[in-house]
Amino acid sequence: LLIGVPAETVPGERRLSVVPDVVKKYLDLGAQVMVESGAGQPAHYRDETFIDVRFAASADEVCAAADVVFCVQPPSPERISTLREGTVLIGLLQPWSDAGRVKLLAEKRITAFAMELLPRISRAQSMDVLSSQAAVAGYECALIAADHSPKFFPMLTYAAGTIRPAKVLVIGAGVAGLQAIATARRIGAMVEAYDVRPETREQIESLGAKFVDTGVAAAGTGGYARELTDEEKAKQAERLAKAVAQCDALITTAAIPGKRAPRIITAAMVARMKAGAVVVDMAAESGGNVEGTVAGEKTWINDVLVIGPANIASRMPVHASEMYAKNLFNFISPFIKEGALALDWEDEVLAGTCLTHAGEIRHAGVKQVLG
Ligand code: NAD
Repeated sequence: LLIGVPAETVPGERRLSVVPDVVKKYLDLGAQVMVESGAGQPAHYRDETFIDVRFAASADEVCAAADVVFCVQPPSPERISTLREGTVLIGLLQPWSDAGRVKLLAEKRITAFAMELLPRISRAQSMDVLSSQAAVAGYECALIAADHSPKFFPMLTYAAGTIRPAKVLVIGAGVAGLQAIATARRIGAMVEAYDVRPETREQIESLGAKFVDTGVAAAGTGGYARELTDEEKAKQAERLAKAVAQCDALITTAAIPGKRAPRIITAAMVARMKAGAVVVDMAAESGGNVEGTVAGEKTWINDVLVIGPANIASRMPVHASEMYAKNLFNFISPFIKEGALALDWEDEVLAGTCLTHAGEIRHAGVKQVLG
């Protein structure tokens, strides 16, 4: 079994899907690993740190030889066309965003696993790239907010008095939001947080933050939030308005799987924020939680700085790659037996993550959405 790792080509993507320690684990299972020369460079993994791998001079060489190809970002149509029929492709394939790509994968008879589709059951937690990358992103968002704030985050006592700690409001307390809360707390800010799932109150409070109670609860299926009704949205906005107006930094991380991010902060709410306040909208790339956010840009709205960071996890590529590589290993390694791949389609995690196989779109939810 040859596992292939071409370099990532999406601009700004610095993560890689294997790291040297994880290569060893594949070799122990009898598999071989081929890496495009220099692929680890953007994540600071030098070629010489990959021991006992085969190096390829180009991505084409990797794709032509490998039985299993790993990626972080979805491959381009040109790259897909270089894969052999029957190749197993594993990565963040963005199954909801590009019907053409999904159809091409099916036509090319690629067995594609989109890690976004991984069933979120306890057994699959160690494979969950959405969680690992969200943890990185949440941490980074808190740092971005602190870095751009014109105020100290912690309380500071100095010879002439005391500086009050900054007030940080985090909206959305999933994996990313909880990490943003924990990070802002570690830097010393006073943190308030809100999520529509009522069970988050305890999690928020356990991190030393205050839960903002809007009276709107919207737990959906599988531990996720559901979309709010217009009435609920209005109630939420009214109750959140005060906390938004009083905070020095607002971090938004709210998402609904497979849907556009909910618009929670209106332009009117931004207009009532303090001068110098900072907004970091982690959901910018999926439509934004904040009206006026531009993905990948910093925008001044009056004197409030609204930041829509793009591909946040890639800003910390060493650990994001390590976490991602371990997740992929935990996903595929149970099916590597004596150096060969033996996929078990009865396995609910494997079957549930499959996007395309044997010329078909296999995932019912994606098939329905893409038509
Ligand atoms: P996510 O990225 O889909 O959403 C982020 C947060 O936004 C969620 O907490 C959601 O409730 C919240 N949100 C959505 N709409 C909102 C709104 N209008 N206002 C305020 N908040 C809103 O979620 P996630 O971080 O990936 O995880 C969500 C849940 O799944 C968590 O309970 C998490 O613990 C659970 N989970 C389970 C597993 C597993 O068992 N394998 C793995 C990961 C996450």
